[in-house]
Amino acid sequence: MAEYSYVIVGAGIVGLSIAMHLAKNNSGTVLVLETEKDVAEHQTGHNSGVIHSGLYYKPGSAKAKNCAEGREAMYNFCKEYGIPFDRCGKIVVATLPEELPRMAELEKRGIANGLTGVKQLSKSELKEYEPHVAGIAGLFVPQTGIVSYKDVCKVYQRLILEAGGEVRLGCKFISCSRDNNGLAIETNQGKINASFLVNCGGLQSDRVAKACGVEPGVQIVPFRGEYYDLVPEKNYLVKNLIYPVPDPSLPFLGVHLTRMIHGGIEAGPNAVLAFRREGYKLLDISIRDMFGLALSPGFWRMAGKFWKTGLGEFHRSISKKAFLKALQRLMPELQLDDIHPGNAGVRAQAMTPDGKLVDDFHIVQAERMIHVLNAPSPAATASLAIGNTIATMVLNNSTKSPVKVVA
Ligand SMILES: Cc1cc2nc3c(=O)[nH]c(=O)nc-3n(C[C@H](O)[C@H](O)[C@H](O)COP(=O)(O)OP(=O)(O)OC[C@H]3O[C@@H](n4cnc5c(N)ncnc54)[C@H](O)[C@@H]3O)c2cc1C
Repeated sequence: MAEYSYVIVGAGIVGLSIAMHLAKNNSGTVLVLETEKDVAEHQTGHNSGVIHSGLYYKPGSAKAKNCAEGREAMYNFCKEYGIPFDRCGKIVVATLPEELPRMAELEKRGIANGLTGVKQLSKSELKEYEPHVAGIAGLFVPQTGIVSYKDVCKVYQRLILEAGGEVRLGCKFISCSRDNNGLAIETNQGKINASFLVNCGGLQSDRVAKACGVEPGVQIVPFRGEYYDLVPEKNYLVKNLIYPVPDPSLPFLGVHLTRMIHGGIEAGPNAVLAFRREGYKLLDISIRDMFGLALSPGFWRMAGKFWKTGLGEFHRSISKKAFLKALQRLMPELQLDDIHPGNAGVRAQAMTPDGKLVDDFHIVQAERMIHVLNAPSPAATASLAIGNTIATMVLNNSTKSPVKVVA
């Protein structure tokens, strides 16, 4: 049996960042377990690629703190390792009078979260930033940028290996139990002994926690985010990033237009309940996942609250015309032929037993374990800050010497 000081489940951006911080600390051996054949195959490799500013988050929340710290760390990291990025700024566009107070609130939040240079834009000033946008007012946020988080993860992976750590691909975590020497971990590639486990399993994180004998206190609900791509001839319509004013009752930002760092413009994502945790397509269905939701009273409470929004999102999922209509609020000249279906990502959204969607990061500690159970946007932006914080928690809590080999 192998022996490691720290085993991290999940080679998404959060797991890799924690592993990188631990490996660089040189206090023990590090192993990352990843089911897929490559890193960043789920949320991290299927997102909008935005380095968020921190405009939206409740001041004082873990999201707000980690986003501000992580954003600047991400820009510096990209500079240091030659990862392409662009600190291009973004605009938030109000299209209806009732959105103006919400936009003013956003500006206040941004300032409370330490953003400088946020600028209110009149209808005509909006056009200076994005000539094809339609709105009655806007906000310009200079700190926002774009990057490929897959590129970032490749560098995290390389740094883990260079620091003596290991990333084992195609290796699925199955279960974990405590014994006298530490943790006995079962995988599809055999048994591993470890002193400490960190669960960063994203869409499977609640199940990973349960398989460690830990009650997660939340259930993961998968929300698919679908994108359309602008046809290349229409890319000129979008200079950088164009966002609507978000609905504060929902944890999602609304469909936006995003310039991608490797070229092209994406429109989306919507937020549709997925019938499978890794359900990237409408007809991806898992009976286990659907039963898991159907048997949860919290799910029905949530559905009771958001059924109208949910139906609207489902309609936008099956109707290109409905999706276009949402985009035309921001850019009326977009036409059906200007967009075609693109990628999709699935968000791992934690829900409490009483049906509330957890807004902030949610971490559960147990003996010799840390479980990351809600790491929604901006966790990719904030990955260096989250990784540093959790690695410090691990170092403060773990038995530092590696476990003994159990024959
Ligand atoms: C559509 C969409 C758009 C987004 N846009 C942005 C954005 O623009 N900016 C931003 O900052 N954030 C964005 N986010 C959020 C961001 O992508 C996530 O917060 C972040 O990627 C979470 O990383 P993670 O490592 O926790 O999860 P993941 O990337 O999902 O990684 C979890 C990993 O665990 C592995 N795993 C699961 N179970 C097991 C097991 N049993 N054994 C081994 N491995 C296992 C999975 O295969 C997976 O690789 C977006 C998310 C989505 C879905």
